[in-house]
Amino acid sequence: MNMGEIQKLKYEFAEILSCPYCGGELKLRSNSLCCEKDGKKYPIIRGIPRFVDSDLYTRSFSIEWVIHRESQLSKKIGEAYQTLDFELRTGLKVSSPPSGLVLDAGCGAGRHSELLARHGWKLIAVDLSLSVEAAYNNLKHYDNVLVIQADLNNLPFKEDVFEIVFSLGVLHHTPNPKYTFKKLARHVKAGGVMSISVYSDEGLLVKIQNRHGEIYRRLASKLDPWSLYNLVSHVVPKIPLPRPLCKMPLERFIKHEGRLKLTPTNFLSMLLPFLSFVPDLDWRILDTYDYLSPRFASRHTYDEVIEWFKESGFINIKRLPIPVSVMGKRQL
Ligand SMILES: [Zn+2]
Repeated sequence: MNMGEIQKLKYEFAEILSCPYCGGELKLRSNSLCCEKDGKKYPIIRGIPRFVDSDLYTRSFSIEWVIHRESQLSKKIGEAYQTLDFELRTGLKVSSPPSGLVLDAGCGAGRHSELLARHGWKLIAVDLSLSVEAAYNNLKHYDNVLVIQADLNNLPFKEDVFEIVFSLGVLHHTPNPKYTFKKLARHVKAGGVMSISVYSDEGLLVKIQNRHGEIYRRLASKLDPWSLYNLVSHVVPKIPLPRPLCKMPLERFIKHEGRLKLTPTNFLSMLLPFLSFVPDLDWRILDTYDYLSPRFASRHTYDEVIEWFKESGFINIKRLPIPVSVMGKRQL
């Protein structure tokens, strides 16, 4: 770590960190964070504080985001699209950075944090998988972001410290999404906001697609992630996709206001649920692999997620337009 990075840890972020096991204060030593209570050491490797020894059940993502480290950054997919996607899923405004700290829970390669950092947001970007390596590379130029590797069920933060916690496309890949939601919610300040987006199980068409897709995912996710990736990256370019069928994910939702209609694209989606229709081939490979590879991939309804918010003491709970995305405010 260079001096600049140590400073960043010391003054901006260090005060909210705490030992994930005993809650003790963490002090910065030369190349680790050290718990003052039990002496546990968390190494800082390649600039990233590590609070886990392995990537646990997220190996498929480690591979995905190391290969596709830049596939979903604004410079590739466009700032306008990235902004719209974030705002529709979170109910937040990219151009209005909050005064306090923000948590990107499950940052992947840093797609959202990169957008927000450029607009002056102060963030901690966390992921369990080795995607943190890609995120670090994409974010290291920003003084206002700290990337760490940690388990969302055992985060190294004090309670009630974040003004905003968002988690987009992540909780459905954890073994118990509701449990992880509750763990995350504890770190939101009173009066702060939490926004999450998970895979949808809303509507009959989506339900059929999901049940069918689950059969493929169960089979595919048994393969070694590298073999599956090789297979996907060989097969996907050979599937002919007529141009009119190609659409960005958001277009499919916006056009039908969240409800999927039986268009040719959606009909094909039901037959071959893992097919991606994104125009860019690189992203299509990423999407297909992302659909088939995760060990856990659960589906949820608005009612279910709204219940999670209520149980954790949130108010002003809002359904957001992209299914299933919900935001709420933590009671004062
Ligand atoms: Zn400790």
